[in-house]
Amino acid sequence: MRHIYLVLTISLMTVFIGCRNDKTKQMSPNNTTPVKVPAVSGDSMMAMVSRQLAFGVRYPGSEGHLKARDWIVAAAKSYGAEVEIQEFKADFLGKKGVQAYNIIARINPDQKERIALFAHWDSRLIAEKDSDATKKNQPILGAVDGAGSVSALLEIARQIQQNPVNLGVDMVFFDAEDQGEEAKIESWCLGSQYWSKNYPKDATKPKFGILVDLIGAKGSVYGKEEISYNFASLLVENVWKLAHAMGKSSLFVNLPVGPITDDHYYVNMYAGIPTIDIIATKPSGQFGDYHHTHSDNIDALDKDNLTSVVQVVTAVVYKTSDGSFKF
Ligand SMILES: [Zn+2]
Repeated sequence: MRHIYLVLTISLMTVFIGCRNDKTKQMSPNNTTPVKVPAVSGDSMMAMVSRQLAFGVRYPGSEGHLKARDWIVAAAKSYGAEVEIQEFKADFLGKKGVQAYNIIARINPDQKERIALFAHWDSRLIAEKDSDATKKNQPILGAVDGAGSVSALLEIARQIQQNPVNLGVDMVFFDAEDQGEEAKIESWCLGSQYWSKNYPKDATKPKFGILVDLIGAKGSVYGKEEISYNFASLLVENVWKLAHAMGKSSLFVNLPVGPITDDHYYVNMYAGIPTIDIIATKPSGQFGDYHHTHSDNIDALDKDNLTSVVQVVTAVVYKTSDGSFKF
């Protein structure tokens, strides 16, 4: 992840204040029985992170990448999803035509009412921010930046299998998100660019999407990211409002974060699905110290932080199904 702008303008603040009041109260009454939101398991997610890290580094073209792909496909199928692999070729960091794979898992594929959840599953080829110059060219394990968000989606799939929900959920695990170069915006997010630009016109479009990225690192907080806000301000506000109602206001902070060109940008632009990014930054707005270094291993994760974020996303899923979460 890349391109974070910390300059917050007065106009942005004005937009925040201006949008907040009336729209968030448009929760129209819906008399369906409220569903019970199941409690997600942090232990389950940490085990799934360990499983991915055990495959080794997982950049496109690596052995660990194929093992992780097969494991994600098998896991999603075991939780009852219909799974499709979308293949594409990726050029990155001097490599050409590397085989890459988006993994698309559809839960309740026949449901007309759908939402989407997104994450990237590749780990980065290099560690350009590592303090050890001799290790900058070595691939990272990507516990936070990759495995954690994959585990989040799979845990939600596992919960849905155990606690069925009257809603379709499309989970897309994007490949080749994290192989970009700082100065070239379009060198990032290759999987989401491909998926979004090839989104079938006749598909039953999810009414909204949530991308999770860099979630669960120690000390992380989640602010309202500007691209998310520009495309789907009401969704941002309602997710944060729900998080606060769940007692998680110290994590889902009421602070703007500058635009981050992440997978959600392409999903919004080309697939036309209003999608927000729940992405961690330090309170300063910077990415954590682990980011794109060899410290991005299992120790960078905080099980409670990860669990809190995934619990909120899970609540969005279940509360959308009973009509109590609106977008
Ligand atoms: Zn990254």
